[in-house]
Amino acid sequence: MGIVSPGFTGRRRSATELPPGQYLTHEFPVLSAGPTPHVRPEHWEFTISTETGEVHRWDWATFTSLPAEEITRDLHCVTRWSKLGTDWKGVSLDTLLADVETGADFAMANSDGGYTTNLPLEDLLDGQAWIAYEYDGEPLTPEHGGPAPAAGPTSLPVEERQMGARPGPVRHGRPGLLGERRVSRVRRPMERTALRRRLTWQVGTVTEVREESATARTLVVDVPDWPGHLAGQHLDVRLTAPDGYRASRSYSIASAWTGETIELTVEQVPDGEVSPYLVEVLKVGDPLEVRGPVGGWFVWQPGQPGPIQLIAGGSGVVPLMAMLRAHIGSSAPAKFLYSVRGPTSVIYAHDLREVATSENVEITFAYTREAPPGEPRVGRVDADLLNAVTFAPGDDLTTYVCGPTPFVEAVADLLVSAGHDPARVKTERFGPTGGPR
Ligand SMILES: Cc1cc2nc3c(=O)[nH]c(=O)nc-3n(C[C@H](O)[C@H](O)[C@H](O)COP(=O)(O)OP(=O)(O)OC[C@H]3O[C@@H](n4cnc5c(N)ncnc54)[C@H](O)[C@@H]3O)c2cc1C
Repeated sequence: MGIVSPGFTGRRRSATELPPGQYLTHEFPVLSAGPTPHVRPEHWEFTISTETGEVHRWDWATFTSLPAEEITRDLHCVTRWSKLGTDWKGVSLDTLLADVETGADFAMANSDGGYTTNLPLEDLLDGQAWIAYEYDGEPLTPEHGGPAPAAGPTSLPVEERQMGARPGPVRHGRPGLLGERRVSRVRRPMERTALRRRLTWQVGTVTEVREESATARTLVVDVPDWPGHLAGQHLDVRLTAPDGYRASRSYSIASAWTGETIELTVEQVPDGEVSPYLVEVLKVGDPLEVRGPVGGWFVWQPGQPGPIQLIAGGSGVVPLMAMLRAHIGSSAPAKFLYSVRGPTSVIYAHDLREVATSENVEITFAYTREAPPGEPRVGRVDADLLNAVTFAPGDDLTTYVCGPTPFVEAVADLLVSAGHDPARVKTERFGPTGGPR
C-alpha cells in the first residue's frame, strides 16, 4: 500500500464504485491549455473527409436539424476525476457516418490547437459516440467545447471527446476519416508526456513549513532522487488513509530547481479534502508522497527569447513565482500582475518585495476587495488595467495566466480581445468551473 499519511482520513467516495485511482467530483473540471476559443454558431462547421477525398460538411443549422439523442454517461478522465450520470444531448456518429463510404479502420481528429488523435472506427459506431451540444438541458459554453464538442465512447478518457478536426493527410496506418471543427484546446499533449515518462510515486519528507497568508502555507519537501523540474511544472500529491483510501491532487512547484528540495504552496479550499490536510495537519518530519514533475507547456526557461508577462489570481501565483525565481539573473524584461483580495492575501509578500528590486521586473497588485492605504483602485482585472500595466501584444512576448478557472477565462479573453496571439497566451486553471455552462 505504500505509506500512510499521518492524520489523513479523507472524504469517502459515494457508494458507487469508481475505477481504481479515480476520485469523484460533482464539479466540472476544465482541461484546456490556452485561451478558450469562442466559436460563434454561424462560424461552426463539422466536416468528415474520406480516403477518396469525399467531403461531408455540416454547418450549425444543418447539424442541429439532424436527429438528436439524449445520453447519460459516467465520465472517467485520465487526470483521475470521475463524474457520474452526466446527461447530454447530441447527434450520434452513427447518424453522421451513415452516408460515408470508407474502408478505414481509424478516424483522425484534430483539435483547435493542432493536436490530433486517432480513434478506432469501431469505438465510434454502434451508439458509442456523439457530437454533444447540450449538457443537463442547457447549451454548452465555450469553456466546455461549446457550441458542440464530441462525446466519445465511454471507455475513452474525457479529453478524447473534446476533439475537433481539420482536413489533412492521414499519417498513421490505413487511410482514415477526417473531420473539421474548432473546440477548446485540451491538455492531453502534456498529460501524455507525463504518462510516457512513467512517473512513479516517491516519498519525500517535510523539512519546513512557512505560513504565507491566513489560508496558505509553503511546504518544503526533501525528495531523494528528485529528477529536477522546469519553472511552471507541477506534481501530484497523494494522501493515504490508514484503511488504504487515497486522494491525490496537483500542486505547482513553487521553487526553481535547486536540487532535491522542492517547495509547494497550498491555499486552503473551504470544505476541500486535500488542501486542509496540507495546510493544517501535515507537519515537519511527516512523509509526503509525490509524483512528478508534470507538464511541459506551461513552463518558462532561462534563455527563452522575448519578454514575459505573468498574470496570477490568488494561489495561481505559485508557478509564476517559480518563473520569477528562475528569472533571477535573466535579462528578459518581465512584468507581473497579481490579483489578490487584499494585502493580507498576498502570498510570497517578502519574496516579491525582493524581486521588485530587479531592474527588469515590474510588479503590480490588483486588489479586488480591500486595498492598502494609498492604493486607490479596488476591483477586478479589466481591460483598462491590462492595457496600463502589461506588455502590449508583440511577436516575441509570452504571457502566462494562472489562477481559479473563472479568473483565467476572463483574463485570457481580455488578452485575446486586446490583440494577443492566443498561441502565446499560456494558461493554467486551478479549479473547476462549477458546471459546464
Ligand atoms: C496543474 C494544477 C496545479 C495546481 N497548483 C496548485 C497550487 O500550487 N496551490 C494550490 O493551492 N492549489 C493548486 N491547484 C489546485 C489543487 O490541485 C486542488 O484542486 C485544491 O487544493 C483543492 O483541493 P481539495 O482536495 O482541498 O478540494 P476538493 O475536495 O477537490 O474540492 C472541494 C471544493 O472546492 C472546490 N475547489 C476545488 N479546487 C478549487 C480551487 N483551486 N479553487 C477554488 N475552489 C476549488 C471544489 O469545486 C469543491 O467544491 C492546482 C491545480 C492544478 C490542476
